[in-house]
Amino acid sequence: MGVAATVLVCLATVGPVAVAANESQGTWKAGVATVVTTPEQPMWMAGYAARTKPSEGKVHDLNAKALALEDARGTRFVIVTIDVIGFPREFRDAVEKEVMARHGLRPEALLLSASHTHCGPEIRAWRATQAWDLPAEQIELGKKYAETLQAKVVDLVGRALKDLAPGQLSYTHGRSGVAMNRRLATERGYVISPNADGPVDHDVPVLVVAGPDGKMRAILFGYACHNTTLDFYQFCGDYAGFAQLDIEETHPGTVALFIQGCGGDQNPTPRRTLEWAKQHGRAVANGVEQALASKPRPVRGPLKLALGEATLELSAPPSVEELKKQASSTNKYESRHAQELLKDVEAGRTRSTYPYLVQVAQFGDDLTMVGLAGEVVVDYSLRLKRELSGPRVEGVPPSDRGQDARDTRTPSPQSPAVWVAGYCNEVFGYVPSQRVLQEGGYEAKDSILYYDITVTPFAPSVETLIVSKVHELVQQVRSDK
Ligand SMILES: [Zn+2]
Repeated sequence: MGVAATVLVCLATVGPVAVAANESQGTWKAGVATVVTTPEQPMWMAGYAARTKPSEGKVHDLNAKALALEDARGTRFVIVTIDVIGFPREFRDAVEKEVMARHGLRPEALLLSASHTHCGPEIRAWRATQAWDLPAEQIELGKKYAETLQAKVVDLVGRALKDLAPGQLSYTHGRSGVAMNRRLATERGYVISPNADGPVDHDVPVLVVAGPDGKMRAILFGYACHNTTLDFYQFCGDYAGFAQLDIEETHPGTVALFIQGCGGDQNPTPRRTLEWAKQHGRAVANGVEQALASKPRPVRGPLKLALGEATLELSAPPSVEELKKQASSTNKYESRHAQELLKDVEAGRTRSTYPYLVQVAQFGDDLTMVGLAGEVVVDYSLRLKRELSGPRVEGVPPSDRGQDARDTRTPSPQSPAVWVAGYCNEVFGYVPSQRVLQEGGYEAKDSILYYDITVTPFAPSVETLIVSKVHELVQQVRSDK
């Protein structure tokens, strides 16, 4: 190849990127706000049925953080990340209504993300009363905390919108190996135990928000892994909390925000010590630094948003005879679940469908962000990234087993980056894929004993219905220019 041809190639490669960077500069506005959400008194903590007492102090503060974005046409999108195990649909609905009334923010422009830390307070009233049998004063504390949190989030969204100032966005991604699949096949069926051969998604997607001068203001990053290194009695953001602190320490003046991925069947491994939580946080933060070391690609507008509901089918409840048998079980959770379901069956009010929230944000031709409700297993992010990332290039095999196991091609560099988050907008229970549902175990069926006690497991159509809704919304935002 001659010199002229080489120059031409370089121009073809570098030219559009340089132009894009200029284009993105000044076409976005971005605003950031944060608020401390650590409870002011000891409270019952979320996540483990075996807990026997309220919290005892904190390792570091819990936070809610908001990133507000506005494109050149004035379309706004606010992402709120909260250090909490999850929130019910009523919480999302109440915040949605208030931010519309007070800040004029449309429902599809609000994405709430729960970090799923198991070292935060329990805010789900039904869980406190029905599943945990908590003392009355703890139930009341939980309700009050949820109300306070709701008001703080509404205020936070307003502050992030007020903070909107010219900026530029770019996307990049790295890797981190903290997550290990936690579904292990045994003679007793699938149990929760580290499985080195199970599918994982080790991607660390990163959205960089910078000012017009290129100085970083915020880093939004994701990771698909249960936030469950710790199970002790101190408030703590777990590995995701430490990762945010590490990033903010490395980049003073930058706010780091964490979005949970499809980590329903992934655990940080190993776990159960504070030292491991810190190390996992550092490892995920290193994934962000690794991503930043490669050249981020500019993210341009326009911003297109969609929020919809997939009507998921639930399996039929067991027969009355079977429920009566389960109601006499010595397992108090199984017994309680069966008793409540029996009441519903006898009153003819069992639920046969579940309204499942799906949210999509499209950033020009550069980035597609999908927000799924519930504890979504990793199959969803692997599948959706494969299906939504556009034209693919033959002959370049993916480097990570499980990352893209059913397709040996990789996305072309021109494809939009695809970011799939779980635990968005409502955390009502697990969302198994068709595979996980067929295999059985905790994420498929067993966990319903600890969730909303009148819900039966999803029907086998769950994956098809969710993926169809995602495709429908993505098509809508991508065609609507
Ligand atoms: Zn969970």
